[in-house]
Amino acid sequence: GGYPLHGLRLAMKGRIGMAVYPHDTSEPETLLRYARVALREACPQRGEHCHFFAAEQLDNLRNRVWMAAEIEQAIEQERVVLHYQPQYAIDTQRIIGVEALVRWEHPRLGFVPPVEFIPVAEEAGLIGRLGEFVMRTACRQAKAWSAQGAGEVRVAVNLSGRQFYDGSLTKVVAEILAETGLEAHRLELELTESMVMKDPKITVASLHELKQMGVTISVDDFGTGYSSLAYLKRYPLDTLKVDRSFVRDIATDPDDAAITNAIIAMAKSLGLRVVGEGVETIQQLEFLMDKGCDVAQGYLLGEPAPAATAEAMLGESFALEQRKNKQLV
Ligand code: C2E
Ligand code: MG
Ligand code: MG
Repeated sequence: GGYPLHGLRLAMKGRIGMAVYPHDTSEPETLLRYARVALREACPQRGEHCHFFAAEQLDNLRNRVWMAAEIEQAIEQERVVLHYQPQYAIDTQRIIGVEALVRWEHPRLGFVPPVEFIPVAEEAGLIGRLGEFVMRTACRQAKAWSAQGAGEVRVAVNLSGRQFYDGSLTKVVAEILAETGLEAHRLELELTESMVMKDPKITVASLHELKQMGVTISVDDFGTGYSSLAYLKRYPLDTLKVDRSFVRDIATDPDDAAITNAIIAMAKSLGLRVVGEGVETIQQLEFLMDKGCDVAQGYLLGEPAPAATAEAMLGESFALEQRKNKQLV
């Protein structure tokens, strides 16, 4: 099929979202909105070019619209807070940095985990503001800690895909660094593997821009996506974070042990720093240590905690032998 155009054949594909008057609603504007909701569900890949609006989608939509409004308010009123989880340098046995993790406690829903509200914020176009708030707060905190004599700790901030591909990220990062006075190398940006592999051309360009500013770049949840090793080599990266799902069973599952070992070896040969995520036991820490992993992060070394609690852990020496004895007691 298709249309002839200057000697080429042009094929067009369409998607249709449908809402029915007066069955779904009798309000013209709402009807259009419902049709747009249905349109989002129509998926040509599944061979479904047309999709009817369904009431469950409405519940879903109402829920998301409501949730988005709640998130917006929480950002405005600064009811979104950051917790900080320590990162432990295996060679010096010291806490050398923290990862900032966003926390939102809703008055009625209680604690809503970031994996639930971040996608809603992304969809509602709020991730820019949320991300900026997180970055600014984290940079300010890191700066405040060094002013209080806690040393030059590094702070890692998670980025969402939308933020990364938005085009204004470098500008935002530059503004926040200038405003807070934090040295660029102390800010580490965490991007997930699937994010950096989505559009390698754009990624290479933005990573170089960020790198030029002096910030540190880290690939989060490594091993869960599909990486092109060729790109991994071309990207100006600093750190790979081995996903928690591998670390969990390194002491018991030979496959996970082999994968973790291979990731560490590969990262080292590319000159990258390796962080093991989700370290909960001494056995896991010892395995990572043995394989030459540089940094460990997980409940064993410290859970994400409010700034004041995290502060007490900074620069702290966390001798393994001492820990072992503690665990035996
Ligand atoms: P992530 O960046 O991989 O963060 C690590 C997650 O593992 C955190 O969950 C942390 O609390 C949890 N964790 C740390 N150590 C352990 C451990 O020993 N055992 C276990 N079972 N879990 C551990 P959290 O805070 O719920 O965050 C989940 C994800 O949400 C993060 O994964 C990150 O992708 C995203 N996220 C968190 N904060 C932000 C943010 O400010 N912006 C964006 N865009 N995403 C964020
Ligand atoms: Mg992370
Ligand atoms: Mg992770």
